[in-house]
Amino acid sequence: MRIDELIMKNFLLNKKETKKAIKEGLVTVDGGIPTKISQNVDSSVQEVIFRGEKVIFYPHKYYMLHKPVQTISANSDEKYETVFDLLENVDKSELYLVGRLDFWTSGLLLITDNGKLGRSMLNPESHVEKIYQVTTKEPLVVSDVDKFAQGLLIDGDVLLKPAQLEITDAHHANVKISEGRNRQVRKMFLSTGKLVTELKRIKFGPLDLDEDLAPGQYRELTIKEVESLI
Ligand code: URA
Repeated sequence: MRIDELIMKNFLLNKKETKKAIKEGLVTVDGGIPTKISQNVDSSVQEVIFRGEKVIFYPHKYYMLHKPVQTISANSDEKYETVFDLLENVDKSELYLVGRLDFWTSGLLLITDNGKLGRSMLNPESHVEKIYQVTTKEPLVVSDVDKFAQGLLIDGDVLLKPAQLEITDAHHANVKISEGRNRQVRKMFLSTGKLVTELKRIKFGPLDLDEDLAPGQYRELTIKEVESLI
């Protein structure tokens, strides 16, 4: 694989940082400095060193799952089916969930063995955006848009960051948030007097829920999707 891709994937650097590191001679291949950032290397036979550390290509696994309702976002549960139970023919030993959806929420869940990436996406400082499709029992009103934009109060004293509400009809909306508090979307709507009756996550960071995935189905991320994450 290309030396720049190897460094990018292993150290979660972006293209610019990687190019700079290679140009500055921070990467060596069998003791020599690569002449081109596109140089191909085989880390199983060549010794690649970055900042004194040996680089071994380890292809991480990334899955997009369409979580169905009535499943638990966990590795195992004594009572209910978990999202991990849905993964078949997959080595689950090193996998973990990047965030959770509650029992009655469906939609996009990212599952990976790339702990560094997962932790970085969950870090509140990363402000990873998520979009949810929402159905409400009570009708939505135009003034709700301003309330979401100003920042809602939940759990008595938690002031949320501004969120974007797009009303599609009286009982349906899309909401974009950049925080990840427990049952946040349901609580946001409740704070404006609306009960959420259906909730589906359709976007997580740069990833869009693949509409070809029925609830319960999953697939590996494409290379393009992986590159959009790192
Ligand atoms: N907000 C919720 O209320 N539930 C989820 O599962 C995710 C966000």
